[in-house]
Amino acid sequence: MTDSYRHKGLRKALVAELRTKGITDEGVLQAFMDIPRHYFMDPAFADWAYKNSPFKIEANQTISQPYTVALMTSLLNVQVGDKILEIGTGSGYQACVLSYLHAKIYTIERQQKLYEKTSKFISEIGFADVRCFLGDGYQGLPRFAPFDKIIVTAGGSTLPVRLISQLAIGGTLIMPKGTEDNYIMTRIIKKSETELVSEDHGIFKFVPFIPGVNGRATV
Ligand code: SAH
Repeated sequence: MTDSYRHKGLRKALVAELRTKGITDEGVLQAFMDIPRHYFMDPAFADWAYKNSPFKIEANQTISQPYTVALMTSLLNVQVGDKILEIGTGSGYQACVLSYLHAKIYTIERQQKLYEKTSKFISEIGFADVRCFLGDGYQGLPRFAPFDKIIVTAGGSTLPVRLISQLAIGGTLIMPKGTEDNYIMTRIIKKSETELVSEDHGIFKFVPFIPGVNGRATV
């Protein structure tokens, strides 16, 4: 894998585009500038890495559109040392963006093939701190709870109660909520054990949040 001046130039243009679309968090923009997104895709499609569009990866899954990753990361308002649970490891790009911001990342994938490939790969490119699990995101990771932040990168119709219970008081959960291809980016703040505040942040397309594991779970 090589990261050329050309790739860096393409990333610079992508960052400029993200700014025009309203992304203002400098930490998030720096992550996009520094992490070679083309590493996360098949080399044959490296040129697609810096277009603001989603892309198919292994196991019929998708690496989310750059703008979507940037927005979700901004909405999480990541602080150094935050303990963050990601549901839907996929290519690993979102997990690496969060790790770049000095958060402690736990990420779960339900597809064995993706889990195996991505957990090995992100460690090889220098993100060995990201902890990867094969399991059902609906169950969360009770062993490591509570989390300061939870980010669901697949679209579902209801908020999983287990994830809410694994969120710290004062914590934030982001999830695309709705039905097929018409998900509303929802940010939930857990004010107390009994009070959730919910905000909407626009409509997005996502692959579905599917219960169960396709393989032998590690959690
Ligand atoms: N965050 C990813 C985007 C992945 S797309 C990235 O940056 O590339 C969504 C991912 O969620 C897919 O890989 C899909 O297999 C996974 N997924 C769907 N339902 C899940 C579940 N119940 N538990 C864990 N992962 C799930």
